[in-house]
Amino acid sequence: MTRSSSAKKVLVTRTFPGPIKETLSQFDLNYRENDENLSYSELKALVKDKHGILCSIPDRIDTGILAAAKNLQVVSTYSVGYDHINVEEATKRGIAVTNTPDVLTDATADLTFALLLGIARRVAEGHNLVIQKRWKDAWSPKFMLGSDLAGKKLGILGMGRIGKAVAKRALGFGMKILYHNRTRLSKKEERSFSANYRSFDQLLKESDFVSIHIPLTEETYHLINANTIAKMKKSSFLISTARGPIIDEGALFEALKKKRIAGAALDVFEKEPLPADSPLLSLNNILLTPHIGSAAEGTRYKMGEVAAKNLANILLGKKPLHLVNRDYLKHGKSAKFS
Ligand code: NAP
Repeated sequence: MTRSSSAKKVLVTRTFPGPIKETLSQFDLNYRENDENLSYSELKALVKDKHGILCSIPDRIDTGILAAAKNLQVVSTYSVGYDHINVEEATKRGIAVTNTPDVLTDATADLTFALLLGIARRVAEGHNLVIQKRWKDAWSPKFMLGSDLAGKKLGILGMGRIGKAVAKRALGFGMKILYHNRTRLSKKEERSFSANYRSFDQLLKESDFVSIHIPLTEETYHLINANTIAKMKKSSFLISTARGPIIDEGALFEALKKKRIAGAALDVFEKEPLPADSPLLSLNNILLTPHIGSAAEGTRYKMGEVAAKNLANILLGKKPLHLVNRDYLKHGKSAKFS
């Protein structure tokens, strides 16, 4: 243990799977042995003297927290999304922000596909019917008809790491791939996913399933709203494992209620946990999961490995595995990577 690293103070905001304690044992570690989220005021009090914070989605790292943490050098989030962190403010203050992409891509794509299959083939509805002893006829030709997948068009909004992993799975099911990004993929990559580029509007118009994989930013907040939903086919399904506020939930509720689209399957919500009085809960053309995109054992362990390594590397002056804000180096505090 070096003198300088042992003097650095680190907060881990709750217990996370993965070898976090071991990786960060060289620091003065405040590892919360607690599975509950910190309140904002608790977090603010705890960050005051810290050089590093390992946190996740429920920890709102805003200007107030960053201003309170005078010694802070790194915010390492146990997630790929970083919309809960004011990255611009962190950058100005010379604080590195790191995240955990790649290791959760397959798990999130798997859950996306579970939702897609689940809503298309009415899996939860069928399960409830059997469990509630409402299954009357042994087999019936028109009973619980869902949607085919083979030959249908899957519109991927956000053809990044997770979008591409979803495309791979969809090809196995015989689906046709359309996608929209701000930047078009290379011809070679398009060929490898048999993917066809579309404008945002055209993607909405043509797709039988629209699956959302873009980050939550100012630009994507309520990107899916009454106007954009109106462009979708009446027979189409909307799936999201991205972030709740990308969809205007009020507009989605109206569209589902009036059968403007066939159904929706969501893992993420504007408010989490979903409030008990959410109108979405009154619909039957919907499938909901509680933000479990990356919730697979091996994946969560690897996220812990990456999040802890990112944090340790920054405090030791080394390159992290995944840095969100390269520009933070311009603003001082930490020396260039060794
Ligand atoms: P990624 O590799 O960065 O992919 C994001 C894609 O979105 C990129 O292809 C990007 O392309 C595109 N994009 C960004 N802004 C856009 C815009 N305004 N319009 C159209 N396309 C846009 O990220 P990822 O690793 O796939 O993760 C995607 C998101 O999934 C994360 O940000 C996170 O919020 C969410 N997520 C959720 C869970 C869960 O538990 N449910 C788990 C993991 C991840 P361009 O830059 O060219 O536009």
